[in-house]
This record gives sequence, structure tokens and C-alpha cells, in this order.
Amino acid sequence: MSATTDHDERRCARHPEREGRYYCSKYGRYLCDECVSCADPKLYCKYRSQCIIWELERYGDSGTRAR
Ligand SMILES: [Zn+2]
Repeated sequence: MSATTDHDERRCARHPEREGRYYCSKYGRYLCDECVSCADPKLYCKYRSQCIIWELERYGDSGTRAR
């Protein structure tokens, strides 16, 4: 059996040293604060209604509305 179980290790997909605070159900990966944004906003995502990442992007920090 493998001794390494990073099963409950939540690390950012791009930054292994960072904590992955947000989970992307579509891609099954975690993202850190910096990376938290929908990878494919135009691609249909069945998890979107419960996706914290998507919510953050929609009602996000920036007041500017990108078209
Ligand atoms: Zn990151």
C-alpha cells in the first residue's frame, strides 16, 4: 500500500505550496485565492449553480463589468 495519501490535501492546482480553498467541481481541482476564477466561463457547467468559484466571479470584487 502506498504511504502517501494526499487525498485530503487540498492544494491549489497551480500552486502546490498553497492551500486550495476553493473547489472546482467541473475540473475536480482546488484553487487558491489568486487562482479562483472559472476556467471556462462559457462552457456549460452542471455544477455552476453550486459553484463558489462561479459565485465569486459573478458577484466578485471588481465593480467593472466585463462584457
Ligand atoms: Zn493558485
